[in-house]
Amino acid sequence: MSRLLIFLLCTSLFLACKFENPEERLKPQIVVTTSILADGIRNLVGDAADVVALMPAGVDPHLYKASARDLDLLLEADIVLYHGLFLEGKMTEIFEKLSLRKDLINVSENIPTELLLRSGPEAHSVDPHIWFDVKLWSMAMDHAAAELILINPTWETIISANSKSYQAQLAELDQATKLKITELSKSNQALITAHDAFAYFGKAYGIEVLGLQGLSTLSEPGLRDLTGLIKFIVQRDIKAVFAEQTISPKAIQAVVAGCESQNHQIKLAGPLYTDSLGDPEGEAGTYIGMVHTNVSVIFQSLIQ
Ligand SMILES: [Zn+2]
Repeated sequence: MSRLLIFLLCTSLFLACKFENPEERLKPQIVVTTSILADGIRNLVGDAADVVALMPAGVDPHLYKASARDLDLLLEADIVLYHGLFLEGKMTEIFEKLSLRKDLINVSENIPTELLLRSGPEAHSVDPHIWFDVKLWSMAMDHAAAELILINPTWETIISANSKSYQAQLAELDQATKLKITELSKSNQALITAHDAFAYFGKAYGIEVLGLQGLSTLSEPGLRDLTGLIKFIVQRDIKAVFAEQTISPKAIQAVVAGCESQNHQIKLAGPLYTDSLGDPEGEAGTYIGMVHTNVSVIFQSLIQ
């Protein structure tokens, strides 16, 4: 082997080891919790940083527990962003411990309290599903952009430009959603899902919403809820109920069976993408695609 070849091999090995060190990365690494958040942050930073999501698509964030690999990623990240509002219910302690870091961003922390929905007075009873009101998610993304620039001022030009363009796309998405759901409202239907993820959606776009489980999938659906829900569906002649991609369809299937036992035929539609994006290559692989896909499925299933 020539001396030159040996030299090149040694140099490339040295560089390979060097770039594994967090302090010597080619690009800063941003670690986020959910796939929905990862998509938003990628839109903001573009090629300026690598964005890594702890939870892959299809994973339920309410139940997600950080693995040893996740803890390493969090500790070695240049910046960490999380959703907050107790969405990452099993990771609260980790974020409390990480809170001394100046490069930790809670994207929902600036949403005005009066715009938040809650099921009770306790702190954890706040509804975390703010991304279903596109305007609230725009506020969270705006806050994330401002915080990212504070942490790394060299990103100001790129993030400001990306943020402006993304906010325009979100405003369009909000308008398109409003139009479609307003059209649906004449059918007097309600949106019934496996868990209570759509309260912000119902409030923002004007459709009645019911969930079989509470705000978090940690709770079990009760028999009384099921009986009441079936009665409501039969009385209101509801056409469909919706499964969710991150939740077992068992409980919502029981609603369909219960309706059938009352001689009311109902479709089991969906699954809707609620707490996670779909396959990265599919139509629900981005936040904007996910909202469009959900709205289209809801509209088609309830309009007739
Ligand atoms: Zn949820």
